[in-house]
Amino acid sequence: MSSSAGTAVHYHQGRKGGYLLSREAALRLMNPAQTPLEDLLAAARAARDAFRPGIITYSRKVFLPLTNLCRDYCGYCTFRRDPGQPGAHTMTPEEVLEVARQGEAMGCTEALFSLGDKPEALFPEMRETLRNLGYRSTLEYLEAMCELVLRETTLLPHPNPGLLSAEWIARLARVSPSMGLMLETTSNRLLGAGSAHDNAPDKVPALRLKMIEEAGKLGVPFTTGLLIGIGESVEERVDTLFAIARLHASYGHIQEVIVQNFRVKPTIPMCNWPEPDQADHLRTIAVARLLLPRVNLQAPPNLSAAHYESLLDGGINDWGGVSPLTPDFINPEAPWPHLAELERRTNARGFVLRQRLPIYPEFLDSYTAAPCVHRTLLRARVLSASDDQGYAASMALPPHAAFAVAEAQP
Ligand code: SF4
Repeated sequence: MSSSAGTAVHYHQGRKGGYLLSREAALRLMNPAQTPLEDLLAAARAARDAFRPGIITYSRKVFLPLTNLCRDYCGYCTFRRDPGQPGAHTMTPEEVLEVARQGEAMGCTEALFSLGDKPEALFPEMRETLRNLGYRSTLEYLEAMCELVLRETTLLPHPNPGLLSAEWIARLARVSPSMGLMLETTSNRLLGAGSAHDNAPDKVPALRLKMIEEAGKLGVPFTTGLLIGIGESVEERVDTLFAIARLHASYGHIQEVIVQNFRVKPTIPMCNWPEPDQADHLRTIAVARLLLPRVNLQAPPNLSAAHYESLLDGGINDWGGVSPLTPDFINPEAPWPHLAELERRTNARGFVLRQRLPIYPEFLDSYTAAPCVHRTLLRARVLSASDDQGYAASMALPPHAAFAVAEAQP
């Protein structure tokens, strides 16, 4: 049994050297009447500082929305489009390469491919687009674009294409060192009429858990996370965290957990939904930190713009992907912080800001030693992009230089 000094926050040693809270303890921590926020945050900060003292990371990326057509209709989504809607777009290979090359010139090391889920299953227009491009499915096209970026630039692809079979995880792992799927929630209740996922066949929690498990069986460094404030109960939020912790205890492949806060937008079905407040967000981050003390924990700075450095109090050690070039297409109303400003505000809290790759440092050695990536272009790219500690090599521009380059763009 271990505890944070002077607080009522207790946690115990779990499997594989991690710490596992009991569900009951986690629920007590989530309850403001039972656990003062300051006590909880102090314990979370101590856990973060034991894991990654003094360093906060970010990934300098370009965001490539390969297609915003999607067969799902999540109640909070402002990204998706139907064919013919204003803004509906599938990027061409030339567009992908142009953005990737611009990002490369600004010291980016990640090409984040984020896209709608299986649009060709619903829309004949997407089947036609894919036919014209020479592919049978969005995933085939994604695989080819990851390979294109890998061959033609120094960026490392990180695909985030929604649900994948084991076969597709393995195929994409040949062209990307890491990938991601937000679990979001394990609540089946949110599939019900009028709820966030009532018309989103790819948001069935069991399917998403299965994909994350398949990635674990294949040893793919994996990013996942929660989306909080979409109608889940506190119990369901805690259960989602436990589901991630269990998968990580079994396979050890969860490199990063994102605790993303729902932000309301005027155009979404959930436009009248309340946003989670800062204390609620911080409390959830802190419980995630105590449950996953040796997993990188991230909260997006642009979704808490006015006070994002306070997220450090919850025990995060990463700002996620930040782009000097491309907007956050998922939250277009929330611009990324300028990298120089991010560095200044991180430094002001006593941390050094370091650029990481889409694959985290602690996963690099086993990844590059794996027989399946031996003698591949991907392995060569990962090795040349990383320094001797597994962070982005110094060929990347410092934040102020990237800032200057970004400012010089029209
Ligand atoms: S959140 Fe993702 S899966 Fe849901 S509608 Fe938007 S793009 Fe599609």
